[in-house]
Amino acid sequence: MENFADSQFKSRVGRQEALELLTAADLPALGERADALRRERHGSAAYYAVNAAITYSNICQAMCPICSFSRREGQPGAYLLSADDVRRRAFAFSEMGAEEIHIIGGIYPKLPFEYYLEVVKAVKSADPSLNVVAFTVSECSLMARVSGLGLESVFSSLIDAGVNALPGGGAEIFDEAVRKVISPNKLSAEEWLGAMRAAHKCGLKTNATMLYGHVETPESVVDHLLRLRELQDETRGFKAFVPLPFRKGASPVPSKASGVYDIRICALARIVLDNFPHIRVPVPHFGDRMAQILLNFGADDIGGTHWREEVATSAGAVRSERTEDFMRGVVEGAGFMPKKCNSNYNV
Ligand code: SF4
Repeated sequence: MENFADSQFKSRVGRQEALELLTAADLPALGERADALRRERHGSAAYYAVNAAITYSNICQAMCPICSFSRREGQPGAYLLSADDVRRRAFAFSEMGAEEIHIIGGIYPKLPFEYYLEVVKAVKSADPSLNVVAFTVSECSLMARVSGLGLESVFSSLIDAGVNALPGGGAEIFDEAVRKVISPNKLSAEEWLGAMRAAHKCGLKTNATMLYGHVETPESVVDHLLRLRELQDETRGFKAFVPLPFRKGASPVPSKASGVYDIRICALARIVLDNFPHIRVPVPHFGDRMAQILLNFGADDIGGTHWREEVATSAGAVRSERTEDFMRGVVEGAGFMPKKCNSNYNV
């Protein structure tokens, strides 16, 4: 499925060229270059998944200024699902046709490590065939802290419980000056990259996200991509890069969302991340129409149906009844051939 050769690195894009592509390149020329690279790897195929998200809790002590989703313990609207709640939801999603469950929550140090293992086992007990993509490395680092185990032991236990891959969130933007504004209490960039390195070493495939459209600079975007590329050279553990446009919602952080900026980021990612097999532009974050455009600007994956994606919808992202037919229609409407897969790109 992946046409992936190291020979392509001969003409690798450097920092200066990447900056010029992001800020000054002619848009159609940028798109043409990204599209050629995308077609070289994937031809006319574009991927989608039939999946659902279970957010086990919205209680989070990180209090990131960019977040419209989290609540403090005891605050109105705060909730925590039991393993039984999770099992019931997973069963319902499986009955609806979901083949993969994404599990994320907040940074809630009161939860013991066993809780996370129970949640994963609950999904597998509802339907053992469900692919489980669970927990950002921020949550995994918290698990290491509360359990006193090393990160690698945490990952091994999660794999034993049934985790098949990590989702790749929490990267935000690696530039520490920007992190101080948007997510001052989260893992540092070095910690995020180190945790990903450990996950890959344990055999877990992951994605890598980048949250953009807030107070980042072009330099911080390019730096983020180059640091991901460097780690991927070392581990080959990333499957997809997932750009995520910031949606202001109730956040005090300003937004500089723009369709043209989405296009530039997507095309630049395809060009710079020459060692990433996939560029994913999730429909729940971009909307179906922008996802169709981005399929022509370097992306090859429109993400999943993501039934009940509370994090995205609380920040004002597009909410729609996404069925499998809908996802196939998005791909076909953009002129590509739909291929259903899971997060590990098993078609
Ligand atoms: S973005 Fe994530 S880590 Fe930050 S406050 Fe929201 S839920 Fe917590």
